[in-house]
Amino acid sequence: AVSMQKINKWYGAMHVLRDVNLEVATGERVVVCGPSGSGKSTLIRCINQLEEHHEGQIVVDGISLDSDAKNLDAVRCEVGMVFQSFNLFPHLTVLENCTLAPMLVRHVPRREAESLARSYLERVRIPDQASKYPGQLSGGQQQRVAIARALCMKPKIMLFDEPTSALDPEMVKEVLDTMVSLAKDGMTMICVTHEMGFAREVADRVVFMDRGEIVESGSPDEMFSTPKSDRLRTFLGQVL
Ligand code: ATP
Ligand code: MG
Repeated sequence: AVSMQKINKWYGAMHVLRDVNLEVATGERVVVCGPSGSGKSTLIRCINQLEEHHEGQIVVDGISLDSDAKNLDAVRCEVGMVFQSFNLFPHLTVLENCTLAPMLVRHVPRREAESLARSYLERVRIPDQASKYPGQLSGGQQQRVAIARALCMKPKIMLFDEPTSALDPEMVKEVLDTMVSLAKDGMTMICVTHEMGFAREVADRVVFMDRGEIVESGSPDEMFSTPKSDRLRTFLGQVL
């Protein structure tokens, strides 16, 4: 579970998160959407402290993100993240990409880390690519490796930041299918995405951000069929 209370953040003089409150229960799937620059990436990056917040409280899986570096390490172990640009290590094979963090951070023995990695590569449907390098894979395959790599840390929460927006259209579906299957297995997920079909299929809740604020949130049906604010209506006009 994730609890964010009254989160404020600035970049210099620019106020990028304004009193944001977000509670995500264990097993819940939340989709975050909103215009470019509204603060979506900043918000989810605060959850694993890739960005630090200036005011407010964040509790992840019972661990409070204060200034204690020990808590920060603990939280990063529990939270997996997948980015728009796949961020794989180019000089490591697919298998090595997946085993590195479990071996270094969780001290999992190599054999065990490899068998776990192979089982997740199977899950994302690319078991045959284990000995290739990222540059030898399609974008969709690389993104599925990135998902498998995150899962190898056995995270309790997965964050996705526009995981399909850098992909060619024909590869979007294979990545979304992977995310849908993860959702159906009960993973707690916070996904920044404009894939409204995905939101309708798996989201328990859609959160709409604009100018650093959560303007509106509700079930996909409420949000897409009966938006309350003009800002959401305008946004949906552009993406649906
Ligand atoms: P997009 O849909 O384009 O990814 P976003 O909703 O994810 O947008 P953020 O990346 O969170 O938006 O950015 C929120 C605001 O903060 C934007 O105005 C952006 O220009 C600014 N910003 C983001 N990162 C930095 C940074 N490192 N330094 C200064 N300003 C930043
Ligand atoms: Mg972003």
